[in-house]
Amino acid sequence: MSFQDLNLDPDVLKAIEDAGFQTPTPIQEQAIPEILKGSDIRGCAQTGTGKTAAFLLPTLSRLASNPVGVGKGPRVLILAPTRELAMQVSQETIKYSRNLSRLRTVCVYGGAPYPVQKKQLARPYEVLVATPGRLMDFLEQGRINLSRVEVLILDEADRLLDMGFIDPIKEIAAETPDSRQTLMFSATMKGSVLGLSQALLNNPVDVSVKTEYVSNQNIEQHLHAIDNVKHKHRLLTHHLSDPTLNQAIIFTSTKFFANALMEKLVEEGYSAAALHGDMSQQKRTKTIGRLRQGKFQILVATDVAARGVDVQSISHVINFDLPSTAEDYVHRIGRTGRAGAMGKALSFAAHKDMRLVKEIEKFTGQKITPVVIPGMEPTAKADIRTKQFGKERRSYSNDRRPQWNKSSRGGPGARKPSQKRASTR
Ligand code: ADP
Ligand code: MG
Repeated sequence: MSFQDLNLDPDVLKAIEDAGFQTPTPIQEQAIPEILKGSDIRGCAQTGTGKTAAFLLPTLSRLASNPVGVGKGPRVLILAPTRELAMQVSQETIKYSRNLSRLRTVCVYGGAPYPVQKKQLARPYEVLVATPGRLMDFLEQGRINLSRVEVLILDEADRLLDMGFIDPIKEIAAETPDSRQTLMFSATMKGSVLGLSQALLNNPVDVSVKTEYVSNQNIEQHLHAIDNVKHKHRLLTHHLSDPTLNQAIIFTSTKFFANALMEKLVEEGYSAAALHGDMSQQKRTKTIGRLRQGKFQILVATDVAARGVDVQSISHVINFDLPSTAEDYVHRIGRTGRAGAMGKALSFAAHKDMRLVKEIEKFTGQKITPVVIPGMEPTAKADIRTKQFGKERRSYSNDRRPQWNKSSRGGPGARKPSQKRASTR
């Protein structure tokens, strides 16, 4: 199937061609015809499956085919859990609507000053992308009127609920007309997410993509059994000298560790930056922009970067510390292998982490391949894989330690090989 077969607005189709998309992803193929018909949608698909375009393309097509006069407030309201995600959705909206005249998009989110956003809201607009907290503020100030909303979209509904936005979402939905179309997307559809869908959606059509079909298929997932932090650092150094490593995100469990590891890497001569929740929104946006421009090679981040960072040149995701949930794992590794590219996800796990590793494997339906780097084997005690995975234990296929190659890297500074490893924790 091609995008031409989907009855999208010609101006939207042109924007898709400009974006370089050839064929719709499975969730797009399923969702777009239903959304064009006006149905409510409950979409369940994991990260990286193209959900944003799945809801934006038909929604923008419908707006285009049904122009109305200038009015107060948005015709489409999109709720997203984080600032990063809201900004990303808003950028995609602008991209797909570039050939549609008079279709203005505004994005509001917390952690940024009010005046700029107020000014943007003062002019007519059709699409509003918002995080729930900031939207509630503006609603209370009477600066946003939701009585014109034709389509309400909840992106990453599971995350919205995890972040405690259930009441704001219900209040926001109550301000929109009952006649609206509602689209809800989530990586999982159970528990409170299912409950919310029952409260907000009207005879929804379920569209879902089976786990096996997620684009995480093009992400190679490796597991390293580790003894201690020192062992993690040795493995990290090994992987950072992999010539196929273009850009990487290293995830740590805390902001403190993210900063400490970033500083250590910079000291060793890598070009690295940190991203975590203690940074101002402006600084976070700037850091992601610099990552996208290839200004540095390694981003050391907490889970704030696990969603919404869409940078195609990220070849590696390294879970220096494992995430706390299987869902977070899926989101983290989804930062690589973007738009059909190949990606590598490496996870460092101590013996105590093995239960979580099993949970992750059950959740994704995919095995994480245990790998041993010659010379960096875990001690017998840590090497639980021999018991856990039996025959599957295998050694690293490419056991020749690759040399750091400055010229093939294009950008990041030369690394002085460091023998001495200062403790970061
Ligand atoms: P999700 O919201 O499901 O995590 P996104 O909507 O962020 O996924 O899309 C993931 C990536 O795939 C983005 O880089 C997006 O531009 C790209 N993408 C989306 N649809 C297509 C398509 N039909 N063909 C090629 N790339 C696509
Ligand atoms: Mg998404």
